[in-house]
Parts: sequence; structure tokens; C-alpha cells
Amino acid sequence: MRPGLVSLVGAGPGPLDLLTLRALRAIEDAEVLLYDRLVSEEVLSRAAAGALKLYAGMDRGRSAAARHARVVAAMIGHARLGRRVVRLKGGDPVVFGRGGEEAEALALAGIPVELIPGVSACIAAPELAGIPLTYRGMSASFGVFTGRRGRGMEEDAAMWRAAAGVETAIFLMGVERLAEIAARLQRLGRPADDPAAVIERAGAPGARCVVARLDDIASAARELAPPATLIVGPVVSRRLTAPIGVSDLEGPCSCSSWP
Ligand code: SAH
Repeated sequence: MRPGLVSLVGAGPGPLDLLTLRALRAIEDAEVLLYDRLVSEEVLSRAAAGALKLYAGMDRGRSAAARHARVVAAMIGHARLGRRVVRLKGGDPVVFGRGGEEAEALALAGIPVELIPGVSACIAAPELAGIPLTYRGMSASFGVFTGRRGRGMEEDAAMWRAAAGVETAIFLMGVERLAEIAARLQRLGRPADDPAAVIERAGAPGARCVVARLDDIASAARELAPPATLIVGPVVSRRLTAPIGVSDLEGPCSCSSWP
């Protein structure tokens, strides 16, 4: 039997209308869906009634490598039975979250694979909060970084230099280490008064956003929890509400009410 196609599909930041049409078609056609924690109910509900839906996110007590191996083995198993498999990931499928590694493992096993891009949180979160990533005369570049200790924060010197030097720096998976990230960026030359924002649960009804100076962002955003995105750089001052002021530092404001 010919193996079924596996599509690594970006589910976007959550709202159904931020899903691409290609992603929607793949979800509707899937016989087996393996989905991560950040995939919204709204998106999952578009699967066919008879489709097998398997949670493939983080397990308590299981290492990321063990989970990854199990998910890959499950995809290979279903594909070898000729099934149409969709691997659904929040945002874009190959921006963090081991999508590239999964695609490679499938290809090595002889399974046909396709990638379907999604709207990544690195773009959606700032943008839904009214913050542009580039702005003429202010920022002609942006970089996306992880705030998670992987190979060890100390060892990632090149990444930290790039994050300190790029005009707009965006951190995913960093909200639990805001103080450490802000301190490190300042040590490497980012100004203490660089505008920064943290956007929590962008696209969801309870989305929140905090804007503060880089040296204050960890304290201003202490109530915010994952999933949240940090953006640092002068573009934050161009957001679609009042520029940075005292009221921003007083506490979270709701993004959902923004124009
Ligand atoms: N592949 C995903 C990113 C996976 S890493 C993508 O392209 O979006 C998960 C991180 O993404 C979270 O820790 C958080 O930093 C960010 N994130 C995901 N969903 C988000 C949301 N709704 N609002 C803000 N940040 C989000």
C-alpha cells in the first residue's frame, strides 16, 4: 500500500478566520489529526466527524525527545496504513516546536510530506496588538528568538548578540524569563528605555498586552503567563493606541478592545 500524505499544518494563532484556506482544506480532509496544545478548539472543530483526533502536545513527566519520538512513530504508523494525516501546530508548523525535525523524520521513513504555512504568533501577536514589525525610518529588520533555555542561555552567544542588535526583536517562549531576557539585552547594548510589549493570548477573547520600557517590562508584565510574545524595539512606540505613557505602566490593558 502506498503511504498516505502527511501535512504539517499551521493552525495560526487561534481564530478560525486566521487559518489559511489550504490549512482548512487539509484539516477537513484529514483522517487522522495530531494536534498540539496551542491549537484552538475552533480550528479542531473543523475536522470531519469521523476523523481520529490525537493530542500530541507536551505530556507531564515525559521528555520532549520522548514525546517527539512517539508522535513521529504514530504519524508513520497511520501514514503506512494509507491514511491522510494532518499534524496540526499552533502558528506556523516550522517556527519552533520541532516541525522541521518531524518533517525530516517522516521524509527519512519514506513518507510523503507537505508543509502548509500558518500565521505565526511572532507576527500575529504584535500585529493583533496594533504594533507593526517594521516601520520606515525606524526599523528595517526584525528577528525572532526563543526565550527558552535549550542549548543553554550562556552558550547561545551569537543568538543574544543578534537579539541585542536587530532593530525589532521578538521572543517566543520567553514570558517566564522576562527579567533575564531584558537584563541580557541591556548588557549587550540595548537601551534601557527601548520600548517593549508583552502580548498574552493574542487572538483569544481575553488577550492582554502590556507596554513598558525594557528595564521595566518584567515587572510590568509579571501577571502575564504563556502563551505570550515579547517584542522589543522602537516600533512598539508606533502601536495603534497612545504612545508609551504612565497609564501603560500601571497594568495590563485589553488588546481586544483596540481598533
Ligand atoms: N509555531 C508557533 C510557535 C510555537 S512556540 C508559531 O509559529 O506561532 C510557542 C510560543 O509562541 C508561546 O510560548 C508564545 O511565545 C507564542 N504564542 C503562541 N500563541 C500565542 C498567542 N496566542 N499569543 C501570544 N503568543 C503566542
